[in-house]
Amino acid sequence: MKTDHAKVHFNEQGTPVADDFDDVYFSNDSGIDETMHVFMAANRLPARWLTHQHSHFVIAETGFGTGLNCLVAMQAFAEFRKNNPNHPLKRLYIISTEKFPLQKEDLQAALAHFKAVAKPADALLAQYPCALSGCHRLQLNSFDTTLDIWMGDIHASLPQWHAPLHGLVDAWFLDGFAPSKNPDMWTDALFEQMARLSKKETTFATFTAAGIVKRGLQDAGFDIQKVKGFGRKREMLAGHYAGCKQQDASRFPRDWPYARFEAAPLTTDSHVAVVGGGLAGAASALALVSRGIRVTLITRAGILADGASGNPQGGFYPQLHATPSPASQIQAHSFLYARRAYQQLAAHYAYPHQWCGVLQMDFTDEVAARHQKLTDNQYWPAALIQKIDARQASEIAGIPLTCGGIFTAEGGWLSPPDLVEAMIKQAKDSTLLTVLTDHAVSQIESADAVTLHIEHLEAPLSFDHVVLATGADSVSSLLSDVLPLRPVRGQVEAMPADGTTPGKLQTVLCHKGYLTPQTDGRQALGSTYVKGDMNTEVRANETQQNIETHKKALNSQSWVEDIQTDGVARAAIRLGLPDHQVVCGSLPATLEQQPAWRELAKGKRLSTMPRPPAHRIHVLTGLGSRGLTTAPLMADVLASQLCHHPLPLPEALLQAISPQRFIIRNAIRNQNDN
Ligand code: SAM
Repeated sequence: MKTDHAKVHFNEQGTPVADDFDDVYFSNDSGIDETMHVFMAANRLPARWLTHQHSHFVIAETGFGTGLNCLVAMQAFAEFRKNNPNHPLKRLYIISTEKFPLQKEDLQAALAHFKAVAKPADALLAQYPCALSGCHRLQLNSFDTTLDIWMGDIHASLPQWHAPLHGLVDAWFLDGFAPSKNPDMWTDALFEQMARLSKKETTFATFTAAGIVKRGLQDAGFDIQKVKGFGRKREMLAGHYAGCKQQDASRFPRDWPYARFEAAPLTTDSHVAVVGGGLAGAASALALVSRGIRVTLITRAGILADGASGNPQGGFYPQLHATPSPASQIQAHSFLYARRAYQQLAAHYAYPHQWCGVLQMDFTDEVAARHQKLTDNQYWPAALIQKIDARQASEIAGIPLTCGGIFTAEGGWLSPPDLVEAMIKQAKDSTLLTVLTDHAVSQIESADAVTLHIEHLEAPLSFDHVVLATGADSVSSLLSDVLPLRPVRGQVEAMPADGTTPGKLQTVLCHKGYLTPQTDGRQALGSTYVKGDMNTEVRANETQQNIETHKKALNSQSWVEDIQTDGVARAAIRLGLPDHQVVCGSLPATLEQQPAWRELAKGKRLSTMPRPPAHRIHVLTGLGSRGLTTAPLMADVLASQLCHHPLPLPEALLQAISPQRFIIRNAIRNQNDN
């Protein structure tokens, strides 16, 4: 859902002031010095980084505002990394919340004064996200920082953060307008969430010394000290979490039965096998090596991307519903994340793509009405979709169109196999990735380690964990025992782009099928959709079907008869699930392994939080025909889970992609009550 932007003006000192709260974003005296005094020094940063023994450190902030606190922290962290290249601490995570994000122009104006943080400010501005509620993960790699901006009310966001067993946050920047001006934020619910998410000895610091904050934090289990405030402020509060962590049911809401992987986190000593050489496999390998994990990517094929990720062009856009359903939210955030990731990748590793936009056409009255609803209800920001009429559509498409539709300007097409190559190249440059093609995994055993038996290889290979990103091959793997896998065959024509009108197309057109602009003299015209068919031979009748689909949907376009193919086509199998959602996480436990779930089958609520068995087998599959959109974010979710890093999705969406959902849904329907 869209969030409202902040309404701001700049006072005489050039400091931004929030109209609705009548309060400044930072001190009129010196914003950076205030950040250093209140948030960095009182949390003992950067000194604490030197003694931190883990690979990542988590700062959580309660009001992102201009991002100034975050910029100061990430700049200091980059400095720490530069001075301590061999220190085990490698990555800073900053998780911040924001109910009223600043417009990009206001953010730029607010930060323009701070030359000392110009570099991190530029990095932030280059990726500053649109105002969509939920988590926007920005990879600010030049600063070794991952910044998660959670847009929406803090009281909605914090309960959605997944906390690993020993807590999530190392230091709190408790910012926000003054309690007297923003009493709704400074409530016991906030302090309780802070306690839930804190580790033993997590520190906090805040600019205020208000009694309500002091008492609230004390009641939630924090030890408080009053220290000298910044500038003219006499006092402020700092301290640490001293409460005892209550485990299980109280920490994990009972409505969320799909337990998260809680075995020991991966370390830089871990070696992970990723099976599958398509988008899901490449994205998983990249997400893991970027966390310092050694990966061997194994594929039975002689080349990468030989399955559903092998088509020369794929349309890139989010598929949204008129309401912010979990499926739409996953699409929206995956799309925004993937766009940032692909752009960063393209800066160093070239691959064919075009950000030419995607037009979902109003090709019937019914579809036009659906599209109208999609834009009328204002859930989705213009960065995702805009309604355009036939004139605008024709201009964008570069060819005459008789209907408009919804346009995703940030979308376009990419070459999936080249994208996979580029991702693998980047991952290999870390020196942490090995790729084994022509290696067919025939059997997987999991005990204290994972053993992979490979066809024609005498000795099996041993790993600490394995990620199965096996696409359609999952059908003949152990995944088919626990997941209701649905293979779907799709044939795409490589239409010759001759001098006729369709060859001049400048954007991706989607209706019942899709047509891309040309690359290398060919345009992709797809696709058929044959459920349960695993055959990949090109079929003449499906070529005919693809042409007919276009002629029917585009029958009012003057150039429709120019759509002709010469029989060059490719067929591949995409893998989906009945609820059209990806599967991302640890291999599901069976009901025998999780007796607690039997209570659900009896209509009861969970009385104990089920512990997932310490699985070493994980899965990222079911990306269907949406892999270009979902692969990067889902791979990052999986790698974050395995490393116990902060997760870039709210708990409600993590539940929607949990591999355990089918077994539990069946249990609830009493179908598995044995
Ligand atoms: N840390 C910021 C910086 O470095 O610029 C300054 C933060 S400003 C003083 C307070 C921020 O908290 C504002 O951006 C405001 O919109 C946000 N905020 C206020 N109430 C909130 C709430 N209930 N949930 C999330 N954010 C909130």
